[in-house]
Amino acid sequence: MNHFRRRAGELYCEDVPLEAIAAQAGTPAYVYSTATLRRHARVMRAPFAGREHLVCFSVKACSNLAILSLLREEGLGFDIVSGGELYRTLEAGADPKSVVFSGVGKTAREMAEALDAGILLFNVESEAELRLLDRIAGQKRRRAPVSLRINPDVDPRTHPYIATGLKRSKFGIPRSRAREAYRLARALPHLDVVGLDCHVGSQLIEVAPFVEAVRELRSLIDELVDDGAALRYLDLGGGLGISYRDERPPLPMTYGRALCDALEGLDLTLLLEPGRVLAGNAAVLLTRVLFRKDADEKRFVVTDAAMNDLLRPALYGAYHEIAPVQRPRRRRETVDVVGPVCESGDFLAQDRELPAVEAGELVVIHSAGAYGFSMASNYNSRPRPPEVLVDGDRFRIVRERESYRDLVRGERP
Ligand SMILES: *Cc1c(COP(=O)(O)O)cnc(C)c1O
Repeated sequence: MNHFRRRAGELYCEDVPLEAIAAQAGTPAYVYSTATLRRHARVMRAPFAGREHLVCFSVKACSNLAILSLLREEGLGFDIVSGGELYRTLEAGADPKSVVFSGVGKTAREMAEALDAGILLFNVESEAELRLLDRIAGQKRRRAPVSLRINPDVDPRTHPYIATGLKRSKFGIPRSRAREAYRLARALPHLDVVGLDCHVGSQLIEVAPFVEAVRELRSLIDELVDDGAALRYLDLGGGLGISYRDERPPLPMTYGRALCDALEGLDLTLLLEPGRVLAGNAAVLLTRVLFRKDADEKRFVVTDAAMNDLLRPALYGAYHEIAPVQRPRRRRETVDVVGPVCESGDFLAQDRELPAVEAGELVVIHSAGAYGFSMASNYNSRPRPPEVLVDGDRFRIVRERESYRDLVRGERP
């Protein structure tokens, strides 16, 4: 289900023509659909209705305040990976008790801020981090609730940059050291050991790796209970994939049922940290064609969006569908869609067969809602684009286009 559809050939977001958004917000611009975000939040929660659970949206996927508060309204919590993300979730009105803090390199300052806020728990990724968190909590005369992130050594069969649960990955505590790490955690005076966490990777298009991870963690849970641990939370991370091209990832219902089956008989509150599956297909990047350009062996379409606006194609060779906003021409041609940035890696698509587009026309890059704006930069001193949120037949700019003034903020000539 997708709220970007054509009417009489022209592309709309919900009931708003994208042409109207470009006229008001300019291009490039990120355009999000409220109905899609709300629906994704609901289908993600539905399979877990029968058990204690909290779905924590992975803020790094898409961190605009308007979107965070919309997801908060849908009953979601948040998975953060920095002090900046903590700040955003609190600004968006999140209950701190719905926030979990992940990440392999939390600083003392970030730990202190999260303790002051009173978050639900820290997902701790190493023995050294346990010791630092214990010290900071002690200084504050507080207790820090912790889960240990265990690396289940499961192959997610996804892109190597987003596979995080393998033995050679920097993430998590190896399964072989997990019991020892729990002993340490329980011996430290200012920590409350409340759970177990894992995250096997991103853009997974099969259920099996998730189920394998649950199996690994259950064997560990048995050992920990033998050791006398009293656990309350099991966090299975995020990672459910979406269809960018022709992938057929499991539906959230299928994924959820498989997890519930694998968790049968286990009386722990389930935490999940989905990002991409909630936000990915909820936005497009709207851009205008600046020029067409023919080289000896290639034909280029140069757009006003570039790798600084949407990094995924340049970073991962990721595929994003591209389509004209107005009725697609019958004539098709094979082109590279590229931005103005001075890098050969600055492309949005390569050797892509598309309906012919002319200079001045609008095109969209689909599935840009996750790791889109949140990965945008100012490279080439390009102001970052605005974010627009559509709701039915209305839309509003939920983040303004940056100005040249914004580009030099904090600099001293
Ligand atoms: C990135 C990340 C997520 C979200 O991953 P998605 O693939 O977007 O669902 C969840 N948990 C952790 C720890 C992460 O690093």
